[in-house]
Amino acid sequence: MAASLRLLGAASGLRYWSRRLRPAAGSFAAVCSRSVASKTPVGFIGLGNMGNPMAKNLMKHGYPLIIYDVFPDACKEFQDAGEQVVSSPADVAEKADRIITMLPTSINAIEAYSGANGILKKVKKGSLLIDSSTIDPAVSKELAKEVEKMGAVFMDAPVSGGVGAARSGNLTFMVGGVEDEFAAAQELLGCMGSNVVYCGAVGTGQAAKICNNMLLAISMIGTAEAMNLGIRLGLDPKLLAKILNMSSGRCWSSDTYNPVPGVMDGVPSANNYQGGFGTTLMAKDLGLAQDSATSTKSPILLGSLAHQIYRMMCAKGYSKKDFSSVFQFLREEETF
Ligand code: NAD
Repeated sequence: MAASLRLLGAASGLRYWSRRLRPAAGSFAAVCSRSVASKTPVGFIGLGNMGNPMAKNLMKHGYPLIIYDVFPDACKEFQDAGEQVVSSPADVAEKADRIITMLPTSINAIEAYSGANGILKKVKKGSLLIDSSTIDPAVSKELAKEVEKMGAVFMDAPVSGGVGAARSGNLTFMVGGVEDEFAAAQELLGCMGSNVVYCGAVGTGQAAKICNNMLLAISMIGTAEAMNLGIRLGLDPKLLAKILNMSSGRCWSSDTYNPVPGVMDGVPSANNYQGGFGTTLMAKDLGLAQDSATSTKSPILLGSLAHQIYRMMCAKGYSKKDFSSVFQFLREEETF
């Protein structure tokens, strides 16, 4: 499939095309359309907390956008800015041959690609479809197969960095897919991120993302437990955080995203855990880690426990709060 897609010299001006999809003379322009002009419209599907600032960074780099979100209000500010809003993922695929999807879950991604009005209904041969949602690696692989059948290319490129990094264009992208297509993906992803890392075959971007988030959940719970214990032992939280951050317990959750209100400014714990990375999304990512651990027979004892803690938080009213609210959960949970 896409393995047959190859990189031609940039000097030719026609950078990407498929040997297998080599068109008859009359249709050459259509198949190679994504290669001839780098600032042709880019499709963007899913304009939520992350997709909104990511799409804006593409606009800043001069890319016209073809926009779709199932929630029409999410498209309004792009429409007001002169971007083209369409009424289905299929319509995006009809108008753009490079499309980025940024959706909450595997089910949403399947709907956007394979649904009744999904991308696959109207995708053009040779199109590049980049999914930046965090979803099950097995679903990424299935989508890649479906996309391949239509003569197009699929890459998974989930992100790390959160809403702040999405706004400042400093996301880290973990990219899985055909290596020859990486440069084409990098051209767009580089407008939204400061690190774009090739991980291997389709699904490996998701694999890297799931491992990172499982570790993040474990370290956040650990930080919250240590801070809570120290406070109950009479330590000042700011002093304790300072000591942890100059000692071997230091981690991102303690020095950059501390979960205790009053320790740091500009983080969700300073704002009643509003904004940031939702507890529901963390529970979802831990569920993906759990599924992957089961299918690969990998022991993830702490990852499984973290999954249960975040699921319990969702059931107890924390679902809309940032995942660092696990500190508040521990404070309020007497049984712990
Ligand atoms: P979000 O819920 O804020 O936004 C998702 C958007 O997708 C919404 O506007 C929704 O209306 C739209 N949508 C849902 N189904 C759709 C469909 N079938 N077709 C079109 N649009 C559809 O989610 P988010 O915070 O932007 O996260 C998106 C993805 O990025 C998730 O997979 C998440 O795990 C991941 N992620 C989020 C963060 C973060 O800090 N929020 C950080 C890293 C990764």
